[in-house]
Amino acid sequence: MPRLAVIGYPVGHSRSPAMQTAALQALGLDGEWSYGAVEVAPEGFAERVGEMAAGDYAGANVTVPHKEAALAAAEEASEAAQQIGAANTLVFAAGKIEAHNTDADGLLAALPDSPRGRRALVLGAGGAARAVLWALLWEGARAEVWNRTPERAEAICAELGGTPVRAPRQAEYDLIVNTSAVGLGGEDPFEHLPLGPDFGEAQTVVDLVYGERRSPLLEAAEGAGAATVDGLEVLVQQGARSLEIWTGREPDLDVMRAAAGDW
Ligand code: NAP
Repeated sequence: MPRLAVIGYPVGHSRSPAMQTAALQALGLDGEWSYGAVEVAPEGFAERVGEMAAGDYAGANVTVPHKEAALAAAEEASEAAQQIGAANTLVFAAGKIEAHNTDADGLLAALPDSPRGRRALVLGAGGAARAVLWALLWEGARAEVWNRTPERAEAICAELGGTPVRAPRQAEYDLIVNTSAVGLGGEDPFEHLPLGPDFGEAQTVVDLVYGERRSPLLEAAEGAGAATVDGLEVLVQQGARSLEIWTGREPDLDVMRAAAGDW
């Protein structure tokens, strides 16, 4: 029976096992496939992945802090994974490791419409920002990047494209994507990000941070009439693409949404 898992450190909080197991069940594949969680510290990552690839695992999702190491561990990588410099999906085939990045496609699929030609603001310059910036530029958006530590915004733009910005004017963007960790620990987004609660009705606001409750950033955006996309939807979309890569089947997104949001 081919096994799948999410690899992280820590990994206990991950919604992926519940979400992917529900998707496999709905496809009638749960007798054939299983999906679990593997917790491994960074120093043991490469060895553990090698063992999984040589054993009965067919693939894995990879989360913090292993996405860069996942790309390094692979013999082959998709264009997206190579350019982003990180992988969130591994395929183990005939003892070989293939790396993919479905975070980028997942973000694009979660948006209400294509960002082509739109002006986008990416908040943050960490691992999640890399996939988001790459996806937006790939799709033809004009992307700017703000980060608390401005040098990191400059570095990510020098590498991937886009324009670093130190004082973004909120009203000028069609799309605002929070990829920073602000909100994860209950921080007030309007204290830590260069934003106020005055969003426009034509704007779309995405918050990659997710939890049991809707984030204060999205609550404010929704209250102002903006379109919103929450981090769980992005998680579901990237997970659906990973499952499709492993099984060749298209999972039921509503089943995945319900399982991911069932805290
Ligand atoms: P990361 O590489 O550690 O980067 C963290 C980013 O947050 C950096 O840009 C950092 O700025 C910024 N930051 C942290 N605290 C801040 C504060 N108080 N004020 C302003 N900026 C702050 O983390 P990551 O992997 O990119 O993940 C970021 C978030 O995205 C996490 O909450 C993660 O759970 C979420 N995420 C969600 C999905 C999804 O599918 N929904 C996928 C991936 C990640 P500095 O550079 O100045 O430190």
